[in-house]
Amino acid sequence: MKSLLITNARVIDGSGAEPRQQSVLICGDRIEAVGAAADAAASARENLRRLDATGRTLMPGLIDGHCHISFDEPNSNDELFFHRRPGLAAIIAAQNIQKVLQAGVTGIMDADSIFEIGIDLRDAIEARIVDGPRMSTGAYALWTSLGGTAGRLIPDTGSRGYGMVVSGRDQIVTEVRRQIKNGADWIKVHVTGLVPRHPLGGEVQSWTRDELKLVCDTAHELGIPVLGHCRGASSIIDCVAAGMDLILHATLMDEAALDVLVRTKTPVMPVFTFQANLIDFGATIGANDSIRAMFRREIADSAVMLRRAYDAGVPLLCGSESGFSITPYGDWHYRELEVFVRDLGLTPLQAIQCATQTNAFALRLQGRVGEVAAGKLADLILVDGDPSRDVTVLGDKSRIKHVFLGGREIDLAPSPPRGDPPGWRVSTYGARLSAEVARGGVKPAPPPIPTDEL
Ligand SMILES: [Zn+2]
Repeated sequence: MKSLLITNARVIDGSGAEPRQQSVLICGDRIEAVGAAADAAASARENLRRLDATGRTLMPGLIDGHCHISFDEPNSNDELFFHRRPGLAAIIAAQNIQKVLQAGVTGIMDADSIFEIGIDLRDAIEARIVDGPRMSTGAYALWTSLGGTAGRLIPDTGSRGYGMVVSGRDQIVTEVRRQIKNGADWIKVHVTGLVPRHPLGGEVQSWTRDELKLVCDTAHELGIPVLGHCRGASSIIDCVAAGMDLILHATLMDEAALDVLVRTKTPVMPVFTFQANLIDFGATIGANDSIRAMFRREIADSAVMLRRAYDAGVPLLCGSESGFSITPYGDWHYRELEVFVRDLGLTPLQAIQCATQTNAFALRLQGRVGEVAAGKLADLILVDGDPSRDVTVLGDKSRIKHVFLGGREIDLAPSPPRGDPPGWRVSTYGARLSAEVARGGVKPAPPPIPTDEL
């Protein structure tokens, strides 16, 4: 087997420990030794390649716990639900996943995919048909007929986009078992969703505690974990009571919700990147101001509670919501770390731990990846700069110098620019053509802002 000795690197091991300058020996798909043991083992090794990493940082590859690899950067749910075709979506996902890997992301969880493409993509990666990061995947997200975050675009029955409507106990059990039969690593439930004109405002809980427990019991009997999209305290409390394994977002927590998370140490993945990008850069892309204000409040309010959860020992996972037009593939996977540092007050090393060692949980590979330690899978990146001082260096692709996946070095040459197949994007006729605009006296108004369904 070929061995690689990386010397003089600043090693961040993913455990939250301070970096140390030392050597790392990779043999086959594993890290064989770190530090003096690596130098000693390498001295007698034939077939050894050496890589001098002076001035660079060696760390575990990033794990993105929330990446929608099948979406292909839609502008809206309209586009995602009505302008995608299964074959093309799979082919395009196989290309997009390269950008993710080349950005230094050696593992992703895709909790819900259109046409359940995640399952096929994961299998194609594992069979080495497509090169891509390690991947864990859900199938369709589960909705009740009340829907989720797409309002009336969600049908009353059946599947659309990334989700499936289930009604009643029989359908819930049947669908969970069907997804597990087809190879889902996780079951995802949309526990809350925006319901147009609903008097409560915000996201409404669309499942009862009994229904959630039925999902969890059915999945757990078959050894499969469940995650839930939760915005709002009652949804968090009910999901934890139901035995859910991972809470997504966990925004708008109250003291009671925080208390159950702390008591059970249920892992939480906030996924702020989508909102943070809209808040910070939304003006540049003409995003709706009232949505930006809503997100700003949500991050500010949630940061305090999530920080308290973290301090009390609740595992915090890192996911970027990559895959939308606001979060294109390859560009923003590091961004959640930046939000953890800026808004939650974590140190860079704590944020890196969330995105590596802790995030191995999302891959269902806890203790096997996400760490630089002897015996772990050699999923590593070599970065020009010091992410233990500034995590944003991880967002500069020119600084990601080497990516190793299971000890194998990844080609970082970018794919040539691509186009879009016919009918793939939502198009408009253009701005509203009033008579005044037509006569040339008035400038056309910008396109209307959507009201109910986002
Ligand atoms: Zn998402």
